[in-house]
Amino acid sequence: MSNRPIYLDCHATTPLDERVLNAMIPYFTEKFGNAASVSHIYGWESEAAVRKTREILASSINATPEEIVFTSGATEANNLAIKGVAEAYFSKGQHIITVATEHKAVLDPCEYLKSIGFEVTILPVNQQGFIDLEQLEKALRPDTILVSVMAANNEIGVLQPLAEVGKLCHEKEILFHTDAAQAIGKIPLNVEESNIDLMSLTAHKVYGPKGIGALYVRRRNPKVKLAAQLHGGGHEKGMRSGTLYTPQIVGFGKAVEIAILEQETENQRLTQLRERLWQKLSTIEGIYLNGHPQKRLAGNLNISVEGLDGAALSLGLQPIVAVSSGSACSSHNIAPSYVLKALGHPDKLAYATVRFGIGRFNTAEEIDQVAEHFINTVTSLRSCSLVTRAC
Ligand SMILES: *Cc1c(COP(=O)(O)O)cnc(C)c1O
Repeated sequence: MSNRPIYLDCHATTPLDERVLNAMIPYFTEKFGNAASVSHIYGWESEAAVRKTREILASSINATPEEIVFTSGATEANNLAIKGVAEAYFSKGQHIITVATEHKAVLDPCEYLKSIGFEVTILPVNQQGFIDLEQLEKALRPDTILVSVMAANNEIGVLQPLAEVGKLCHEKEILFHTDAAQAIGKIPLNVEESNIDLMSLTAHKVYGPKGIGALYVRRRNPKVKLAAQLHGGGHEKGMRSGTLYTPQIVGFGKAVEIAILEQETENQRLTQLRERLWQKLSTIEGIYLNGHPQKRLAGNLNISVEGLDGAALSLGLQPIVAVSSGSACSSHNIAPSYVLKALGHPDKLAYATVRFGIGRFNTAEEIDQVAEHFINTVTSLRSCSLVTRAC
């Protein structure tokens, strides 16, 4: 284990917390019952465990347990929210609004809806990654049925103004969906205060297991109608059929419970680590921060370095640190990310980008090691001048 690179890619996924694993184990073995079985204890104990997670998730976003629909993750939750609303509100309108920097699990369902006749407005963002609320207001139409704006961005960590978006949507009686895959457990979320009607969640970005997520679906003021995308036994109030994956659901609940409990102290710790890393890296010539300096996830640092080949930097970093990287101009096929492009990054300039996702199990010593290696790698790449001006 110790020879493996330091993991700083916590926006891709996080390691499972051992406390979460321990909570899950009994539900793989002796407590294996089907939560839908009503005639014996095997079913009852699974149902009780599922119920507990519903309560934890609901209270973490100020919803009620009946408003939680389990899915296989945020991708499925986004699909259910967007396609489910599109189908159920078809007679009201066929216009949907989303944002250029959304995750593909939002953009692709919207793209699909466009292909079958819906109209989709994709809002741009400013240089720091924020949407313009006036622009959003202008885009709202009588036939708009859904606005989808993410809570926290998976690349640059930017936190969108959910309460302001919710207010605009609520005034016009348009449904508001938010993809909170990166936000759950990390920042306060409140579906009442922010007028959120649908919210996508996932466990594996918050030290829970992969393959489990949920969709919050508002049941009053207004009661959201949703067309099921999976038909079967009518589980989850008919919105998502399929036997519930009890061990994963138990893990999801435990993961969110821990994250909420530790949120404040953990955010302080992560902010310190991020600032420590940025302080060291900012000594590099031609390096700059992507996104907003403060209004971002505590563990997120996204940087660009001018005059560097992204693939070469990535290769240099790999033995020591596991991060996600990209490039605007590369001899290899690391493409510039559409999120950074949406911030208005010049396409022609040679630069390398790196996303650091610092998490629960990272230490200050690791940050120092990574910073040192990063600086050395940039120095040696520059002295080899691997990137030519022609790039
Ligand atoms: C990871 C992620 C998803 C996809 O979630 P899965 O649970 O892996 O399907 C969706 N949206 C955002 C913002 C994400 O970061």
